[in-house]
Amino acid sequence: MSRARVLRVAVNVPLARLFDYLPPDGAGTLVPGMRLRVPFGRRRQVAMLMDVAEGSELPAERLRRAGAPIDEDAVLGPDDLWLIRFASDYYHHPIGEVVAAALPAALRQGGPVAARVTALALTAAGRDADAARLARRAPRQAELLDALRAHSPLTEHALDGAVPGWRRSRKGLADKGFIETLEVADTPPPLAAAHAVPGPPPNAEQRQALEDLRAHSGFGVSLLDGVTGSGKTEVYLHRVADALADGRQVLMLVPEIGLTPQLVRRVRERIGIEPLLLHSSLPDNARLHAWRRARDGSAPLLLGTRSAVFTPLSRPGLIVVDEEHDASYKQQEGLRYSARDLAIARAKQLDIPVILGSATPSLETVLRCRQGAYRRHVLAARAGNALPPLLRLVDLNRHPAADGLSAPLLAAIDRTLKAQGQALIFLNRRGFAPTLICPGCGKIAECSRCDARMTVHAAGKQLRCHHCGASRPLERVCPDCGSACRPLGQGTERIEETLAAHYPSQTVTRIDSDSTRLKGTMDRALALATSGESQILVGTQMLSKGHHFPNLTLVGVVNADQGLFSTDFRGGERLAQSLVQVAGRAGRERRQGEVIIQTAFAAHPFWQRLMSGGYADVAEFALAEREAAAWPPYTRLALIRASAAERTAAHRFLDDARRKALQLDAAGVRLLGPVSAPMERRAGRYRAQLLIQSGGRQALHALLRPLRMQLEASHGARQVRWSIDVDPIELF
Ligand SMILES: [Zn+2]
Ligand SMILES: [Zn+2]
Repeated sequence: MSRARVLRVAVNVPLARLFDYLPPDGAGTLVPGMRLRVPFGRRRQVAMLMDVAEGSELPAERLRRAGAPIDEDAVLGPDDLWLIRFASDYYHHPIGEVVAAALPAALRQGGPVAARVTALALTAAGRDADAARLARRAPRQAELLDALRAHSPLTEHALDGAVPGWRRSRKGLADKGFIETLEVADTPPPLAAAHAVPGPPPNAEQRQALEDLRAHSGFGVSLLDGVTGSGKTEVYLHRVADALADGRQVLMLVPEIGLTPQLVRRVRERIGIEPLLLHSSLPDNARLHAWRRARDGSAPLLLGTRSAVFTPLSRPGLIVVDEEHDASYKQQEGLRYSARDLAIARAKQLDIPVILGSATPSLETVLRCRQGAYRRHVLAARAGNALPPLLRLVDLNRHPAADGLSAPLLAAIDRTLKAQGQALIFLNRRGFAPTLICPGCGKIAECSRCDARMTVHAAGKQLRCHHCGASRPLERVCPDCGSACRPLGQGTERIEETLAAHYPSQTVTRIDSDSTRLKGTMDRALALATSGESQILVGTQMLSKGHHFPNLTLVGVVNADQGLFSTDFRGGERLAQSLVQVAGRAGRERRQGEVIIQTAFAAHPFWQRLMSGGYADVAEFALAEREAAAWPPYTRLALIRASAAERTAAHRFLDDARRKALQLDAAGVRLLGPVSAPMERRAGRYRAQLLIQSGGRQALHALLRPLRMQLEASHGARQVRWSIDVDPIELF
């Protein structure tokens, strides 16, 4: 035990605790939120000061002294540190790694917060110099001196504008001792405000929702439960404008920015402000720049994906989570957080409202509304005069599909094209075919590193594994029996090929993660789709997210059956969400949309519920099922995953975890497993999992906290990769 004043810091290492250091010699005031360099093992690390404490558990002789602080002031404010602590506690994840996730890469590595740029400044000698004499002998130098006498210092950027050619005069003036070079803070000009274009007047439902939203101030969660095309965005935008008018900042989260250029454009036009974008494909310096502007308050409106939830805000006023049901809000590796859930926690801490929006709200959110914890605003009608699309099932047993497309679906495409409409053919499988089979011996091409089949990709004539990324050339003949191999089943490439052969005069546009990998290809494909120049679109769920295609009147779902028999308890919810979302692309303007779903299981009760009662009925039924089976959202789950090159190592680690859990206070929790993961081998590693289920959050966390510490310290932890996933959304 030491009584000395210590700094408690977070270091980016996979250990859950904070580390104690003695304050550096001669340091001024140290406050939480500042970064310091600390000796760690044999290296020096960037650390975040979380707390200044009186006394340490460690004896004085074991305390090391921290190095000098990197920052003059706190980089993160108390609310930002609160969010980091909350995420670390809730997800049982090492706090240093949470800090790292919350900071742009440059800051994580110890770079300066303020952007510095080079500037020239006048010296005392320069101020007193005889300018007239200089002007006779060196007129260019005199010009630069004059500019600096009018304003000093001037940044390089400012000099480029004021004295073109100043670089040539710089040395002469510096040699005379008239000027010096400085580093100054770069203060960016305010974001240009464009002219805001007013939207359509809100309809009765939108007005009602807005009135309700405006009637409440401070923290509160509101769900905008609006059918696709009902104008949820219009409602957000009014509230965004309200907050901006109050001088507050707005953080708007979207599932994927690359997929929502239309939303970005709409925000820009309607609000008249260039939203600052924050997403993972920004280069490091752009990300730092955006982060800085959010933090200093010079950017009023931030539009970002998952990780933007950590961005510091100087005067937060509103958080919006668009498409709150979307699985991409949950990070599936490292810090496995839900950006939606953290957004709600953060809004509560900041005492500001949060608006969730979806046409297919998650069952978690539906239940919270029912319990009265969230307010629900229903937008049941489509904006304008658009009608909801008509849903129709095609029984594949009565109308067999040739190359994936049944006669009724082809007839509907014909009709659509004749009426100058647009058809979207939806299939959640990219590639040419999901399977390569040998008709001679029945051999199926499998990945050598995963328990999974290889997908046939026509482009590049390859077999690719969608789980580990492995690829090999397409096998034309079976290595076992020499018969010619055949692709089996449908992927987007194959459907595209079939449609192109069927409709040779049409432009068929495919949109999936393969076709849009190259920069600019997504924008081009979307432009073809939005203008209606391409009348036939083929795509995966990428196409179902948020797009507005004015001419689209027909949606064809090639095969939805894989979702009907999912082993995951969320299977039904997911299937209904993706179908309703893609169906919602149809008939958003004048003409009514039509949705044709091909299925080999037309009698499955799921279809009756979806056809008669829509998503609300599916959700209702799924909630009753979850309650009966004690699954979330009625219970809480955490999944401990382990993987290793050997099967036994992964299981041994989880057996040990189970034993440790039972020795701890495991009252109120159920331990299920360990079992092998449904896909046991992935990228050459064997995977297993232990599921922890609890009726309440407290019991679950009371167990996980000490369990995490014990596992971290255990011998087995060094032989496996392991993680804790709180509120997992996938159980494999
Ligand atoms: Zn064979
Ligand atoms: Zn693989």
